[in-house]
Amino acid sequence: MAKFIFITGGVLSGLGKGITAASIGNILAARTKKVFMMKFDQYLNVDAGTLNPAEHGECFVTDDGAETDLDLGHYERFTDQNLSCKSSVMSGQIYQTIIENERAGKYLGKTVQLIPHLTDEVKRRMLDAAKDSKADIVIVEIGGTIGDFEGLHFVEAIRQMRRDLGIENTLYGHVGFFPYLETTEELKTKPLQNSIRDLNTYGIQPDLIFCRADHPIKESQLNKIATFCNIDRDAVVPLETIESVYELPLILEKFNVAKVIARKMGISLGSRKDKSWIELVKKIRAKKTKTVQIALVGKYMDMKDTYYSVTEALKSASYYNSVGLKILWTDSEMIEKDGAAKYLKNVDGVVVPGGFGNRGIEGKIAAAKFARENKIPYLGLCLGMQIATIEFARNVLKTDKCNSTEFDSEVENPVIHIMEHQKKITDYGGTMRLGAYPCVLSKDSISFKAYKQREISERHRHRYEFNNDYRDILAKAGLVIAGTSPDGKLVEIIEMKNHPFFVASQFHPEFKSRPNRPHPLFREFIKAAAK
Ligand code: GLN
Repeated sequence: MAKFIFITGGVLSGLGKGITAASIGNILAARTKKVFMMKFDQYLNVDAGTLNPAEHGECFVTDDGAETDLDLGHYERFTDQNLSCKSSVMSGQIYQTIIENERAGKYLGKTVQLIPHLTDEVKRRMLDAAKDSKADIVIVEIGGTIGDFEGLHFVEAIRQMRRDLGIENTLYGHVGFFPYLETTEELKTKPLQNSIRDLNTYGIQPDLIFCRADHPIKESQLNKIATFCNIDRDAVVPLETIESVYELPLILEKFNVAKVIARKMGISLGSRKDKSWIELVKKIRAKKTKTVQIALVGKYMDMKDTYYSVTEALKSASYYNSVGLKILWTDSEMIEKDGAAKYLKNVDGVVVPGGFGNRGIEGKIAAAKFARENKIPYLGLCLGMQIATIEFARNVLKTDKCNSTEFDSEVENPVIHIMEHQKKITDYGGTMRLGAYPCVLSKDSISFKAYKQREISERHRHRYEFNNDYRDILAKAGLVIAGTSPDGKLVEIIEMKNHPFFVASQFHPEFKSRPNRPHPLFREFIKAAAK
């Protein structure tokens, strides 16, 4: 039977609870434990697919096509495993199941209640994921902050899990914060004590407490938490703000978190078997003689989390190539106003990531044109592939009347158009072409040289595609069809002839990049940019 570690958060949000959960996953996976990670979110949405990325950050996509919270990206990167739709649960999903069960008469005339029916459904999903994944340890992160009214059903469910499974099979970790008071120049521990007290009122006593702070933490402050919160001193872990999140697993090692977990759960964990993470952190810390400047041309510039997996993939590729990385956040609407040269003339590479809707599109097209004409390495991700196609077509057909029907439904040359099976779909939630699909690479392409294999599998999230009516004419003019679906029908990767590195994919390679194993396309893109 799997054991469960539950992670809650207190005091305030944005403390890196997801990164902490992922780092616990990392230290267990590095000891050859099979770990499965789950995130429970309070929102009444059924999944993250319909959430506005400008407010909520990136929508992460799994192999099996679930549209999830960006924390799943941390989990996959830190534990180096592919998760599934079972990893991401939102309250909307739970309610949907309950209501469907009720309509189907499955409650046999009983009054349907938050407790036990809703909490039972939460627990059922945890146990089901444990069984399905065959994990030794399931790590469950509870979204939000302790005391949030809308997260109470999750807190009650994890309380019951200890009663159901026993003390040695469950462990509660709590991530809180020490605020800094300027006037007295000290960190304060009281808000964290109070959040533990809140947790206690729900019947949960944490076994591990993580104290986040932006300033150095004193031993006396940790002792205070241990004393007032009734917990072993070595189970109170200081987490001061760090430069790179990838250092966190090694900080947990420094404070012997695995030893505390082993003791409390009655298991033997030993020492870290996998050393690749230690090498990674060495690479991150190493002095770099060269820094590449990459323009990330997007439209959600106030919310950088929207492009989280993209920036992490760029970072990993720069660690691998031993170069520093400076991301220039470039608003495509500013390019529309001032022209591309103003923002792109000194950059080493251009990335156009995924996106939806008309706003800022012409700026992205101008960025692709600038990169193509000036032979600047270009990496297009989903929308970034579509706009590169539009740009090239305008150039070849010598008319601006080329577009995607997403942005101009009546356009004369719809070089990107809606996929056949998408035409009849009216619902927004979960209806795109989602998840992993195979792609076959053409032998003489840059992509093949990067992947070093003919058949690949990558994750998708789109409604529109390359229009095959334009394939021949664009190919004749120098557009390389570098990857297609196995039946050859769907264009998955385009490249440009006579360009040092111009690669754009219909899929999202960023989702499969790992910190210690950068994605081939990102790795080669940064290598080209460094030249
Ligand atoms: N809006 C485009 C489509 O739906 C691109 C999507 C994306 O970039 N993820 O096809």
